[in-house]
Amino acid sequence: MFQAIQVNEDGSAALRELDESTLPDGDVDIDVEYSTINYKDGLVITQRMPLVKHFPMVPGIDLAGVVRTSTHPAWQPGDRVILNGYGVGESHWGGLSTCARVSGEWLVPMPDSFSSRQAMAIGTAGYTAMLCVMTLERHGIRPDSGEVLVTGASGGVGSVAIAILSRLGYRVVASTGRPEEAPYLKALGAAAIIDRNTLSAPGVPMAEERWAGAIDTAGSHTLANVCAAVRYGGAVAATGLAQGLDFHTTMLPFVLRNLALYGVDSVRAPQALRREAWARLARDLDTGLLESMVTEIGLQDVLQCAPQILEGRIRGRIVVKVG
Ligand code: NDP
Repeated sequence: MFQAIQVNEDGSAALRELDESTLPDGDVDIDVEYSTINYKDGLVITQRMPLVKHFPMVPGIDLAGVVRTSTHPAWQPGDRVILNGYGVGESHWGGLSTCARVSGEWLVPMPDSFSSRQAMAIGTAGYTAMLCVMTLERHGIRPDSGEVLVTGASGGVGSVAIAILSRLGYRVVASTGRPEEAPYLKALGAAAIIDRNTLSAPGVPMAEERWAGAIDTAGSHTLANVCAAVRYGGAVAATGLAQGLDFHTTMLPFVLRNLALYGVDSVRAPQALRREAWARLARDLDTGLLESMVTEIGLQDVLQCAPQILEGRIRGRIVVKVG
């Protein structure tokens, strides 16, 4: 038997005791030690967006734990592994469960320097933050290029992005709707804070040039306003939709300022990129700062916590102690 959160077609969700014969297909069984709650998990658990492909579903787009059994050649019992994305928690039973049966193709080895708890403090949010940083770097943005803006700063992606960029020497400006979190954001390394309301209303197609680059988790008018203020030749890594799915802008920043707008996806990112991102996290993220982002809960607290992340009330990262 194992314990898992299950969401059902009628919109209900509960922590249940399940028989292992109900586990889905897969060639690796994992004893899950920690999982997490990301924004997408909030959407799945509350079913505010139709993300679940079939019911009942065990949510949890992330997990960290130890291989119990494996018929996949790459993995042996006792291996410490991480899983992020690949539709886990949406189309395949996910990490909010004491046992997970998954494809060995989806797993990444856990860097030696991380515990399962630290890996989940990072989770999809932190790994996506690193993908965004790597995207800006590939574009050629360096610490001496100028200020980098991070929106949704107090959230999971935003918090980790600030910590990484600041450690790498960038001057980071954090956009937040929670001015009371300024001390937290400064402790992560933000050099300055701006009020997200200055970005959230429909704006002008081109504003004064300010940002060398930006990481945007909000979408909608925020992303349009960010694009309007990127300096000539700069870039935006757009990864989220906390404000909305819509995006209304004009061609002007693209054709007059050589703006590059990169979409950043974590779910279907290729293995090589994932492994590079996790290796970079092991090198470039201060685990002391990571700890300052974490709130730990148990499986029994997940249902209560899920709506809070959608309401923007969670600071940093939630880790779920599973095993
Ligand atoms: P969080 O809920 O932890 O953070 C989101 C933050 O966005 C909030 O903390 C808040 O920060 C800000 N925010 C909330 N509502 C609004 C609003 N109406 N307008 C502007 N800002 C708002 O989520 P995550 O950091 O985990 O994820 C952020 C986004 O990135 C989500 O949309 C998520 O789905 C997406 N994402 C995408 C991935 C991908 O693969 N493409 C992977 C991971 C995440 P503050 O209070 O500081 O303003």
